[in-house]
Amino acid sequence: MKLYNLKDSHEQVSFSQAVKQGLGKQQGLFFPQDLPEFSRAEIDELLKLDFVSRSQRILSAFIGDEILTDQLAERVKNAFAFPAPVSTVEDDIASLELYHGPTLAFKDFGGRFMAQILAQIAGEQPVTILTATSGDTGAAVAHAFYGLNNVQVVILYPEGKISPLQEKLFCTLGGNIHTVAIQSDFDACQALVKQSFDDEELKQALHLNSANSINISRLLAQICYYFEAVAQIPAEKRDQLVISVPSGNFGNLTAGLLAKSMGLPVKRFIAATNINDTVPRYLAEGKWLPNQTIATLSNAMDVSQPNNWPRIEELFRRKDWALSELGNGVVDDKTTQDTMRELAAKGYISEPHAAVAYRILRDQLQDGEYGLFLGTAHPAKFKESVEETLGQTLPLPQELAERADMELLSHLLPADFATLRKFLMAKALK
Ligand SMILES: *Cc1c(COP(=O)(O)O)cnc(C)c1O
Repeated sequence: MKLYNLKDSHEQVSFSQAVKQGLGKQQGLFFPQDLPEFSRAEIDELLKLDFVSRSQRILSAFIGDEILTDQLAERVKNAFAFPAPVSTVEDDIASLELYHGPTLAFKDFGGRFMAQILAQIAGEQPVTILTATSGDTGAAVAHAFYGLNNVQVVILYPEGKISPLQEKLFCTLGGNIHTVAIQSDFDACQALVKQSFDDEELKQALHLNSANSINISRLLAQICYYFEAVAQIPAEKRDQLVISVPSGNFGNLTAGLLAKSMGLPVKRFIAATNINDTVPRYLAEGKWLPNQTIATLSNAMDVSQPNNWPRIEELFRRKDWALSELGNGVVDDKTTQDTMRELAAKGYISEPHAAVAYRILRDQLQDGEYGLFLGTAHPAKFKESVEETLGQTLPLPQELAERADMELLSHLLPADFATLRKFLMAKALK
């Protein structure tokens, strides 16, 4: 598999290199040179397979020439060790629940697949994973790498801007997992990660490697559950499918669009955001004007400079699709809460991110269409806001209950690169 840098198409790398490097020169994103496609008959055959077998074929279509089929199959099996069920909410609307993995959010899929791939290609070379999280990536990455030999993980997150339980889930592990609360917002954390990758000396000393949604392995892994969704919906609805994706960094939506580019029948995607609405405003007005990031209930989507967007533009260009066909919508916190209550009244307990996606889907779904929204996190992961909104208590799933009483092991640092650099250098690999 060959990939090129979106900032300089002359920079071309293999899949292994792209996974290890994360970003290319000038912080450019890697994008696949070949976009594999399946015929409709092949898609129909794929849809008959179980999740793991089907995912092995999908991933093999991209990277099969670089990792032996049997080895890749084993990696996929290890990574995707939990289901992605479709749950009916209304006659014509269902939720794809992506939160049945170990850290209760969809990022388990990408995080675990990436960890498996890195273990496969890194061999004996020790590496440092450095990543920024607005909440869930951190937990997924931390748990995916926890205890792995030759890998240390450093995770930056915005102090006080992720839910307390979310913080407990990944800041209590210790061992090879180091967590740092940055006294600013997620965009600042992301900027610090980018600065670190621009620092050659630091990069060499630590064998730095990224693990957020910019890593191509995470993105490819996420393609697989869109196929799983289509496999579960009624066959006669397949051509009328509209999928609403609660979006922050737009990795999830990129993966969905890649699934469509492979031939998966999806009529339309909706980019659903909270009031951090850079993309919806861009689609409406044609101008890219990020505002200051605003804290919302759907905090994993509090991103005003979504870093996967260039890949979406590239895919539309390559496929000759019109951006005007990308559905979009914006939901504020009040509407999010109203929607969570409406869903609860229908018997479906949801959390703020899924509620944003459901709301826009419901408002935009046309007669005859079938709607699917992504449930990106378990409601209990956002226990405080769900309980406050619904006025009822939620039982904690076991994974969270066990961690809730443990001590936080995070370091607190200002949003200052020199300070972070010193902290990281002290962890340089011998
Ligand atoms: C990360 C996250 C999102 C946003 O996903 P992107 O791929 O960054 O657009 C949405 N919901 C939850 C719960 C998340 O953790």
